[in-house]
Amino acid sequence: MSQPLTFALAKGRLLEETLPLLAELGIEPSESLTGSRKLMFETNRPDVRLLVLRATDVPPYVERGGAHLGIAGKDTLLEYGSDMLCEPVDLQLSKCRLMTATKKGEELPATGRIRVATKYVNVARQYFASQGRQIDPIKLYGAMELAPIVGLADVIVDVVDTGNTLKANGLEAKDLIAHSSARLVVSRVAMKTRHQHIAPMIERLNEWVKTQNAT
Ligand code: AMP
Repeated sequence: MSQPLTFALAKGRLLEETLPLLAELGIEPSESLTGSRKLMFETNRPDVRLLVLRATDVPPYVERGGAHLGIAGKDTLLEYGSDMLCEPVDLQLSKCRLMTATKKGEELPATGRIRVATKYVNVARQYFASQGRQIDPIKLYGAMELAPIVGLADVIVDVVDTGNTLKANGLEAKDLIAHSSARLVVSRVAMKTRHQHIAPMIERLNEWVKTQNAT
């Protein structure tokens, strides 16, 4: 038998939302994905196994063949920026917006490099380049909101849902860079080599998204 189909999932807020979607594909993890330190899980289907990874690690695992397919946010995919990955299904989950935000009432410096605190350095660089501005990126892994307040950065680039976190920290959202939602992501290679396995999953998930959004 060939290697089981390996499905990479992102830990965190997306994982809970992913479970009904796996059930739709007839995939049930053999144990709880959240209550364990394990990274790889068997399922009720001997031909399918699951990896539970950091969200930012899903694209490289899928691109390099560590997994055949996965689920990742568009924000993460934009930052990773690979042309070896296909996104055959927009799952319409975990919707948010990639935005710039500054200290309330403040404008960006009129000239010179803009200091941008973000974990989305590539997205930020491309966005500000499209505005004719160069940036001095400050790569952070959390608590971005603090950076403009303590004078570390002029602006942040982060995902925003309700905007409450920005507000609670004295910031205001400025420009919309992109909308984000979770995507099924498949490597171009697996799309060919595992077509028989993956094509019915894509069809099923497209139907699932349609019915979810029809109600
Ligand atoms: P908010 O609802 O705007 O207050 O968002 C709260 C925090 O959760 C922000 O700091 C974001 O970084 C994060 N966040 C919001 N939506 C998402 C999402 N869909 N995926 C990942 N992180 C998110």
